[in-house]
Amino acid sequence: MAVQKLPDYSEKPSEWYTEIIKQAELADIRYGVKGALVFQPWSVECMELMYDFFEKDLKKRGHKNYWFPSLIPESYFQKESEHIAGFTPEVFWVEKGGNEKLEERLALRPTSETAFYTMFSLWIRSYKDLPFKTYQRANVYRYETKSTRPFLRSREFYWIETHCAFETKEEAFQSVLDDIETTKRVVFEIFGVPTIVFERPAWDKFAGAGRTFGADAITPQGRVVQQPSTHMINNHFPKVFGVKYFDKNEVEKTPFTTCYGPCISRIMASVILTHGDNKGLKFPFEIAPKQIVIIPILSEKDPNVLKKAFKFKKELEEANYRVELDDGDKRPGEKFYYWEMKGVPLRIEIGPRDLKEKKFLLYRRDTEKKVLINEKDLLKEIEKNGFELSKNLKKKAINNFDGLIKDVKNINEIKKIVGRGIARANFCSVEKDGLGCAEIIEKESGGKIRGTRIDVKENFIGNKKCVICGKKATKVVYIAKDY
Ligand SMILES: [Zn+2]
Repeated sequence: MAVQKLPDYSEKPSEWYTEIIKQAELADIRYGVKGALVFQPWSVECMELMYDFFEKDLKKRGHKNYWFPSLIPESYFQKESEHIAGFTPEVFWVEKGGNEKLEERLALRPTSETAFYTMFSLWIRSYKDLPFKTYQRANVYRYETKSTRPFLRSREFYWIETHCAFETKEEAFQSVLDDIETTKRVVFEIFGVPTIVFERPAWDKFAGAGRTFGADAITPQGRVVQQPSTHMINNHFPKVFGVKYFDKNEVEKTPFTTCYGPCISRIMASVILTHGDNKGLKFPFEIAPKQIVIIPILSEKDPNVLKKAFKFKKELEEANYRVELDDGDKRPGEKFYYWEMKGVPLRIEIGPRDLKEKKFLLYRRDTEKKVLINEKDLLKEIEKNGFELSKNLKKKAINNFDGLIKDVKNINEIKKIVGRGIARANFCSVEKDGLGCAEIIEKESGGKIRGTRIDVKENFIGNKKCVICGKKATKVVYIAKDY
């Protein structure tokens, strides 16, 4: 496939996004279920690597993996009123089996608290069973009524969900903090996507949760993409499922539960949006579907060039790199454009002249520079440049991020920032009574209150009054438009 010129990323990010998904063959939206799409190898390979990084981290933290059914009985759902109210409008229901109407409707899981807690009530007996830490990799289904967008919002998506039970509230909260660290370790340190962690306001909590914390990434144009959320679940939720245990003194108690949900397909969207440019995708080395592409310059019909290319491929694959050798008929220039558009971090060019000198050219997608390398340094240079490329992508992303947060003092300033960055403002209350002011912000600017930060000590702006109602501010909040 010949590369067509992409729309300018900074000027037309939305068109760019649609086009890069098509051209790089990340997903095909032409499947016959609205809001569902076919993920293609170029994104699946990357998302499988993402799954592995998350799961390794969770296992290290003591989580055990489960596979739960994707069907959940309606009666499970109806046990917790807040939860059912929050999710019902988005549930796909299975009502028939063959020609028979089912006795009880089954939900295609939109999330699995009700399934896990039902089993927790059978498995957890004593304080010795706690903490009980689980996770599963699964696809979930939500009947989205908003317009869907590949990777960002779809009716079926791919995620990991963890469900855990603890003896004390403190232990549960520590696990929430550990989830936030997992997000940082994986999403930022490995995928190169910086995020800010917010505690969501009371009106934006997960249905049935006591407290919700969510990470937000931000695109170079200043719109946020929601990243993993983690929740302190109310004690009430496990209680209605009959999850209980006997403590050291034989007293019956209800454990405190948490859940965490890294949505792999949406994290993929922020990898595309955070690192991409006018030439196309840019993958961090660790999660690139192919890390290196070898392009033999075959113009002089020198068989030794191709031989060398295969030798390099073998050597690199033996060192566990993901390598593509493009020995197709297209001109080298066309191949360069194609693999740059696909976001391959490193390119090796082997020509007859360099071959004689036992050298090759190494191109880096991030710096767009080529250097001449001695053949004997192949492995050493690949490792070094792969590492530096990821580091450089991270640095670039974080620099961009910092410049997008601006202090605001009134609604007009909010309107100016939202859609182009994150507005930081004094706010009256993030409990239910602040909802009125939040609605004014959303109506006037299209931006939402993302929440309050828990990782920094915030200073109020100027006179310490709510940016909307003028009453005494209790919090500093962040406002942005999301994808
Ligand atoms: Zn207010």
